[in-house]
Amino acid sequence: MNSHDAGLGNLSEPSSFIRKLPKAELHLHLEGTVDPATLAELSSRHPTPLPVLNNRYKDVSDSGRVLSVEDARALYDYKNFVGFLMAFKAVTERLRDPEDYELITYRMIEKLARESVVYAEVYVSVGVIFWRGQEFDPLFEGMERGRERGEHDFGVKLNWIFDAVRHFGPEEAEKVVAKAIDLRRRNVIGIGIGGDEARGPAKNFREIYAHAAKQGLHLTAHAGESTGPESIWSALRDLQAERIGHGLRAVDDPALVEHLARTGTPVEICLSSNVRTGCCRAINEHPVRRLFDAGVRITIATDDPEMFGTSLSREYELLQNNFGFSDDELSKLSDNSFEASFLPPEEKERYLRSRL
Ligand SMILES: [Zn+2]
Repeated sequence: MNSHDAGLGNLSEPSSFIRKLPKAELHLHLEGTVDPATLAELSSRHPTPLPVLNNRYKDVSDSGRVLSVEDARALYDYKNFVGFLMAFKAVTERLRDPEDYELITYRMIEKLARESVVYAEVYVSVGVIFWRGQEFDPLFEGMERGRERGEHDFGVKLNWIFDAVRHFGPEEAEKVVAKAIDLRRRNVIGIGIGGDEARGPAKNFREIYAHAAKQGLHLTAHAGESTGPESIWSALRDLQAERIGHGLRAVDDPALVEHLARTGTPVEICLSSNVRTGCCRAINEHPVRRLFDAGVRITIATDDPEMFGTSLSREYELLQNNFGFSDDELSKLSDNSFEASFLPPEEKERYLRSRL
């Protein structure tokens, strides 16, 4: 079965119950919220050649050509993991100025409001920005302007999580964490690591995470997405991660599932992402139901919604259609999304109470 479809089916309109259910989104990459129209707009600001890694994209990779909306759509219609990486790269190489970040942040918040998301914790790939040699501070000012305008216009509250790249190594991650510490009073709530779990084992980042925690930052880590349960154990034990991003492979170790359930450690589940990247072969093979039934505190998220052709309501709809989640169970998942957030207890309570 090709991972492009793998049971995800066509987009339909989620029920009004799902669309109106107030939600928090806790696993969302800013760069993955750039829709084709916005990518085309960024491309006209910064015409750059696209990478040519396989033939499929030759037709949209004319050197220096400005991407049309159709080109951007073709780029997002990838068929394999390399295609996904190329789409992500095409976006990040066109994010150059504070104005670009302001634009994508504002549009992200506008879209979150349409999903009845009232609170979000959003990853920024600070590790990639450093790796590109970009000066971060002015870009952050752009993000913050977008956040302030978006919060004001759409009433969605947002905090940032600064994300480092595992396979760039601990020295690079240290720079990301130092920047998060600098900006922790400016809506930076935590740190994360993503990227290649095999080439960047969690134990390499132990001291960096301990330092971040001492400075009052919250801790999450992508783990168990492409490698087995030992990667999740390591994120818990070596990093003291408070939340696990993906955690897909926890199901391979009953003791780990039991541990996650007993400790109430939230696991950020991103169904469409797991299928589109090929980490899960087909939607019906996804362990989300098993994890939920075992008492694991799962929270539903979109990861890179534009690149995975999804939205948060659509992810809830997949749970209902493919795994038989009732409206009550979906409400429970929406509760989880607030409880699993890094907000202080009184703010979580405020969101939960306002839903009654
Ligand atoms: Zn992610």
